[in-house]
Amino acid sequence: MIYLDYNATTEPLPEVVNAIVACMRQLWANPSSKHPAGQEAKRALAAARADVAALIGAQPAEIIFTSGATEANHHVLHGALARASVPARVLLSAIEHSGFLKAAQKLRDQGVEVELVPVTPLGVVDLDALRVALATPAALVSVMAANNETGVLQPVGEVVSAARAAGVPVHIDATQQVGRMPVDFAGWGVDLMSLSAHKFGGPKGCGVLVQRKGLDWPALMPGQQERGRRGGTENMPGILGCAAAARQAQASLKSEALRLGALRDALEDALLETVSGLTVFGRGVPRLPNTLFFAIEGFSADRVLSRLEREGLNAASGAACSSGGNAPSHVLLAMGVPEGLARGAVRISLGRGTDAEHLSHVVHVLRSLQTEAAAEAA
Ligand code: PMP
Repeated sequence: MIYLDYNATTEPLPEVVNAIVACMRQLWANPSSKHPAGQEAKRALAAARADVAALIGAQPAEIIFTSGATEANHHVLHGALARASVPARVLLSAIEHSGFLKAAQKLRDQGVEVELVPVTPLGVVDLDALRVALATPAALVSVMAANNETGVLQPVGEVVSAARAAGVPVHIDATQQVGRMPVDFAGWGVDLMSLSAHKFGGPKGCGVLVQRKGLDWPALMPGQQERGRRGGTENMPGILGCAAAARQAQASLKSEALRLGALRDALEDALLETVSGLTVFGRGVPRLPNTLFFAIEGFSADRVLSRLEREGLNAASGAACSSGGNAPSHVLLAMGVPEGLARGAVRISLGRGTDAEHLSHVVHVLRSLQTEAAAEAA
């Protein structure tokens, strides 16, 4: 089996598995306990916080461990509403993660004004439209750093400047960028950020809400832990696994980004050369180095994926969270891609285990699929 779906999740790194096992065997005391075993766990928690903060340019005190990026996004929405004057208004880019959009949709049903900021045909948030939307008071603006389907990088600096100028708190969902490209929470000047351990070699069920020091953001789950910002006994195995992944990611970030970028570019060039009717979504704007999202005219995603699967190649039709349904990608529809073409969208996302041989296999399989289809039609 060749895994080409690293944007859905990544294989836990050996160092991560070791950290989790060690935690469960030796560091299982409650970090809130006053006895020595508890204090040892507390020190490990503090060290983990520092490791994660170092990867993303934040201060340890700004890290709030959660059950994942989905929960972090819920904290963001909840806090925005709790601080807002009634009726609340929140701005989200139209290409945010489907779970986040669904949470916002639920608020809309409850009377909150949710405005989706459009994107350009290349999948970049439309800054003019954002500035117009920010002219009316809002409780939050949220734009992701990199899109999970297209990999397209969003103009975080411009989004932050526009939000600052309007005095609106800004949240960045950096889930797909952390561990793949540099992330600089302090340098970006954002108020809130979300990330998830399982996207960079850590375990599922652990994420982080990064909350700017000094920002008063009402807690979704008040409690004693995480400085009162997230109650519940800490998920120590997950947190220590997340920290181990952060340390590994920091050590290999630059070299992996270069290696995967070269592999992805070579795959993209080879496909454009050998497969006719190929559209690469987001081609021409900066993207994550590991992501290729494309469609072949006349071929449904199911047909392409099942052929790839027959050859042992596991890719995706888009986000794992929505690939169960038949609806075309909301990201592609927001980019103005015709529904028929969007239904052919296939995402290949590379990671640590990917090598050039895997990708030549992809080119070969897609080329054969097209040749065979042409022969059948003749
Ligand atoms: N945001 C983005 C951009 C994502 O890609 C994902 C995961 N697919 C999430 C949020 C949700 O993360 P988690 O699985 O940690 O809840």
